[in-house]
Amino acid sequence: MPVSENAELSSPGDIPGNIPGNIPGNIGDIADIAVVGAGLSGLVCTQCLHGAGYRVVALEKSRGLGGRMATRRLPDTCADHGLRWLEEQGPQSRKLIQSLLGKGLQPWEAQVYRWQAGELVPLPSSPRYIAAEGITTVAKQLGAGLKIWRGQRVVAISPTAQGWDLRLESLAGDGQTLSAKALVMAIPAPQALDLLQPLSPVLGSGLLETLAGVQFNPCITAIACFSEAERALFETLPWAAVQGSPEAPAAWISRESSKGRNPDCPALVIQSSAAFAAAHLDEADLMPVGMALLDDVKTRLWAGLPLAKTQPQVLQVHRWRYATVRSPAAKTHLSAPQPLPLALAGDWCSPDENPNPGFEQALRSGIAAAEAINALLESRPLPEVDYSTPSSAPVPLRF
Ligand SMILES: Cc1cc2nc3c(=O)[nH]c(=O)nc-3n(C[C@H](O)[C@H](O)[C@H](O)COP(=O)(O)OP(=O)(O)OC[C@H]3O[C@@H](n4cnc5c(N)ncnc54)[C@H](O)[C@@H]3O)c2cc1C
Repeated sequence: MPVSENAELSSPGDIPGNIPGNIPGNIGDIADIAVVGAGLSGLVCTQCLHGAGYRVVALEKSRGLGGRMATRRLPDTCADHGLRWLEEQGPQSRKLIQSLLGKGLQPWEAQVYRWQAGELVPLPSSPRYIAAEGITTVAKQLGAGLKIWRGQRVVAISPTAQGWDLRLESLAGDGQTLSAKALVMAIPAPQALDLLQPLSPVLGSGLLETLAGVQFNPCITAIACFSEAERALFETLPWAAVQGSPEAPAAWISRESSKGRNPDCPALVIQSSAAFAAAHLDEADLMPVGMALLDDVKTRLWAGLPLAKTQPQVLQVHRWRYATVRSPAAKTHLSAPQPLPLALAGDWCSPDENPNPGFEQALRSGIAAAEAINALLESRPLPEVDYSTPSSAPVPLRF
């Protein structure tokens, strides 16, 4: 059985080296704004600032866009192993869904159940949206036309007389530096804290203390792909997705082929509970952890079914150290004018009493960070985000 494992630092199918079409150009030049992270918050922030005519470059450590809105490419199919689907959570998610419906995004009318006391209980149906080509379709649309350097991890940040100096490390291990007058960090708070901690004497303690108070739940995701011979068995299952109990190893199971994908390649995504992930997060070999998640599904959901005896052709395991927000910062974004313009954004910025901040908060926070950094720079008119035409403003870039 071919197996592979992917830790949180790499992206599915990462190929070391610069990514064609995204090779950093003349980085002796200085950008107006550097945005660290091309997840939802970073993409929407980059788009707003680009639309206002700033020279903005987003830096993304992975090969692909979207961050935790993630799709794993598999032989002849794909699986969403982070954000599961889109649903309206507020004004920005509503706008995004309406803009992209029919442009890669489609309603998902599959029945979702809860596994409760040994029974499958149907969950109330609510409008959910998926992309047959993978949920990263949304990120690709948001990133179209923007200047994004992929496969470039920001490893150190320092303020200089010219602006922020960002030290980058490519997937191939090459290093270079980018300078920018202003900086947006659109990455999980603990990762931002690691990068900003060395600047505590110039940043002051308030911002770093707020970052330190943000907490995330981890998650371990198993992606299991079965053979065409098992297609008929999978098609007898009544469910497209099942929500497990938070105490069980498997907290969420979805049949990815129900999302309009190749039915000859039945694929499951199994997301662990936070408690299970916390217990196994630092294990060097994640394959047994992935097998334990699959065994949990076999024991609880497939007991007595022929599927309980099947083995996947491919099993991949992904470790999310920062999956979902447990304890957010009660603000739309964070910002600081000194030593140089700085803003921070992400789903962890949630001023509402929302116990489960998600992609609505990521979008709102990206916009709020764009407004904050614009106010610290030139207060230009910021266009409203247009999710369907992401790269409307033609901006001359000289990098
Ligand atoms: C398993 C799982 C299930 C989920 N389920 C749901 C759900 O049902 N509903 C919901 O609303 N939300 C869900 N979420 C959360 C949702 O995916 C996030 O809220 C949203 O995608 C966050 O976007 P973001 O831009 O804030 O952060 P991210 O998506 O984390 O983006 C940060 C980006 O920064 C990059 N980066 C980090 N450090 C660096 C660096 N040093 N240099 C360069 N780049 C860097 C990362 O690679 C990433 O692309 C789920 C997430 C996971 C993992």
